[in-house]
Amino acid sequence: MADRDGSIWMDGKLVDWRSANVHVLTHSLHYGMAVFEGVRAYKTPEGTAIFRLQEHTRRLLNSAKIFQMKVGYDADTLMAAQCEVVRANKLESCYLRPLIWVGSEKLGISARDNTIHTAIAAWSWGAYLGEEALAQGIRVKTSSFTRHHVNVSLVRAKASGYYINSILANQEATALGYDEALLLDTEGYVSEGSGENVFVVRDGTIYTPDLASCLDGITRNSVLQIATDLGIPVREKRITRDEMYCADEAFFSGTAAEITPIRSLDDREIGSGARGPITKQIQETFFAAVAGKNPKYRHWLTLV
Ligand code: PMP
Repeated sequence: MADRDGSIWMDGKLVDWRSANVHVLTHSLHYGMAVFEGVRAYKTPEGTAIFRLQEHTRRLLNSAKIFQMKVGYDADTLMAAQCEVVRANKLESCYLRPLIWVGSEKLGISARDNTIHTAIAAWSWGAYLGEEALAQGIRVKTSSFTRHHVNVSLVRAKASGYYINSILANQEATALGYDEALLLDTEGYVSEGSGENVFVVRDGTIYTPDLASCLDGITRNSVLQIATDLGIPVREKRITRDEMYCADEAFFSGTAAEITPIRSLDDREIGSGARGPITKQIQETFFAAVAGKNPKYRHWLTLV
């Protein structure tokens, strides 16, 4: 990743990709308190556009607020910077990674008296779980690792340190030959994937866990809006893993994973064991929206 051509926005200016470095005594590197976003830009008939840029930028700044990190840039500046990075790297479609971290002045637990830094990188990134996964669905395993408790981690934030829990879960599932992990909350109810929100479909209604322990996903929000617009009933509620075994369909949502059908959970086929019809409908509407092919969702796009 580090050794390539291109530009990264770092603390207010574009720097050469290979020079976008930090010191080894960077506070965030030791204690994990950094906040970030995953954003995608897509090719549209009007040009390259960032999907739901405002919502991602708002979540980034809220993540920083939760950790009392004083960011030197407002939302407008960060949105303009994200557009600038896509343009500077001449990317038609890409993934963007804004990151806010604590500097290297002082290495005690307290982050106070350290500088706060911001960077934005962008690069081409295809289907996160593979093109085949989007059509065929993936095999998922319930994790032995529990998702964050709301009062251990503050789950409205998207923070770097939280992802050690995701990595443990993903490592375990993929080492056992599955594609992704499903994490349960501290009470044993379905929470989310290692980097995705989760949905099930039963008798024509879409269900998703409420936001107690999972990330307030922007794709999740898009799915709920799309489903409502399609006249498909949606409900946020507690879901058990055996409810998922017996569902007609299931899928993950996320900026990286987009809409990925879930074929089986813990070796129980979900529905027909293939992408279900409602999942397909949501997926098609979502891909039309991000590609600027559905005027109803034009307001979700920001041309770079
Ligand atoms: N949950 C977790 C743990 C994630 O990392 C992500 C990816 N950001 C999501 C859910 C999905 O969120 P979004 O749709 O905003 O990308």
